[in-house]
Amino acid sequence: MTYAFADRALHSPASRNCRDLVPMDGLLARSGIDRAALEREAAAAFAMWESVADIGFRRVDDPGAAQIVIGAQAEPRGVAFADVAYDRAAGGRVRSLRRSLICLNPQQMWKIGFGGGVTVYDLRFGIAHEIGHAIGLDHPSPSGQLMSFRYDEKVRDLQAGDIAGVVALYGPRLGGARTAARGSAGEIASDPRPESGCAVPAAPETRHRDGAG
Ligand SMILES: [Zn+2]
Repeated sequence: MTYAFADRALHSPASRNCRDLVPMDGLLARSGIDRAALEREAAAAFAMWESVADIGFRRVDDPGAAQIVIGAQAEPRGVAFADVAYDRAAGGRVRSLRRSLICLNPQQMWKIGFGGGVTVYDLRFGIAHEIGHAIGLDHPSPSGQLMSFRYDEKVRDLQAGDIAGVVALYGPRLGGARTAARGSAGEIASDPRPESGCAVPAAPETRHRDGAG
């Protein structure tokens, strides 16, 4: 799958959570994080998922051509959200992801690494969690997994439940090389709803089932 950072305002009328994305510059400036660090942390977040499942990610420059677009919210709310749009033409139990959006609140303070309190969120954790949604995963439990909706700085890497989830959707990563045993990356189990979202930590209105649960 390809991913890109928003390099201009991106309006997605059909999206529920990330309808208006803007570039990350304001978020980075406010939190004192430089762009190289953002790109490094995002790459590390994608690599987490890539290291355990038969899925691969490649950065591209053009958000218009990317399957996952990361940006800041034009209208800040919550902490972070993801939207997943499926290919409506696909039928059966498995259908393809068309595009996923990840939007972070630029008024929220972000940091790199854990520590210093849980009101400032680790960028890598936040992006990795939203990538999980972007590729079809739901919140499994309040705490203990990277996909858990509570931000408590207990885990910063994929846990057994996260791995079980992504492997169920894409198959395991075998021998350090991607295989084609379980369909192509971007195919995930059906969900009756076209979009998913979350907050980190979850607000009551966002603690819903989403993804491919
Ligand atoms: Zn979430």
